[in-house]
Amino acid sequence: MVSPIQEYLKTLHARYASVMDGHVADYIPELSKADPRLFGICIATRDGHVYEVGDTRHSFTIQSVSKALAYGLALEDRGEEHVLSRIGVEPSGEAFNAISLKEGTGAPFNPMINAGAIATCGQVLPKDEHSRIERILAYLGGFAGRTLDIDQAIYQSESETGHRNRAIGWLLRNFGIIDEDPHETLETYFQQCSIRVTCRDLAIMGATLANQGINPITQKRAIAAEYVDNVLGVMATCGMYDWSGEWIYRVGLPAKSGVGGGILAVLPGQLGIGVFSPPLDSQGNSLRGIRVCTDLSRELALHMLNPA
Ligand code: GLN
Repeated sequence: MVSPIQEYLKTLHARYASVMDGHVADYIPELSKADPRLFGICIATRDGHVYEVGDTRHSFTIQSVSKALAYGLALEDRGEEHVLSRIGVEPSGEAFNAISLKEGTGAPFNPMINAGAIATCGQVLPKDEHSRIERILAYLGGFAGRTLDIDQAIYQSESETGHRNRAIGWLLRNFGIIDEDPHETLETYFQQCSIRVTCRDLAIMGATLANQGINPITQKRAIAAEYVDNVLGVMATCGMYDWSGEWIYRVGLPAKSGVGGGILAVLPGQLGIGVFSPPLDSQGNSLRGIRVCTDLSRELALHMLNPA
């Protein structure tokens, strides 16, 4: 028998499959090659059930979704107090690539905007002969429950054109938020954004966060339990760029989007959601992704602040 959730996801997918609004990101030249018709929706529960429809096994780059997870690694490496002394947890209300740093200290407002994510990257420590990017890859792989790799073409493309992020990196260096030459940190950040995932991976990553940090498929711990609420906290307040307030009001789930077209959302204690659709709205969030999550929240009563 086909499960009612599976049937529901099929209907939801069909509802939006022909919507062709929005634009695929093109400020990273290589990203503009994404097929706007690709569309996948996946739900993974904390007990390891996975429901998926559409292009859920198609690889794309994680982009800013990585910021939420890498923040967990920085917290594990340096502890909460140290990380908070460098990177705030206040929504900025500004675009993801805004050059917005707190007056005086130069601390980025939060780890979900580029400035904060680059600073977060700088907090991850190379360890046991593993470089930062190797550690980030392995860490994100723990959430996905499989070995992940980097899309080299996207990485090169972003590295060649990422002048604005470089400028942010140098400002962070100026304020002592990054301790060394920002070059290596920026290349690590570009590589981190270029990690390849699928929509299914995003749902399982979300289910891992919903499951106090234990991946429900592999049963292995991906993040120390004590930092799960920190990660979900910044996702809830800052995860959708300058649409974060609208998002928590309407959808009511901690979430993170990326310009590759992915959205990862979490109903704590219950499930993870992954949506993939490359065309973006004016804030840089997946347009179909927002619509799907809005409907999912309403129709399955998932709003965290109005539990069924
Ligand atoms: N790599 C992208 C950047 O830094 C990530 C941005 C995003 O997904 N919003 O510009």
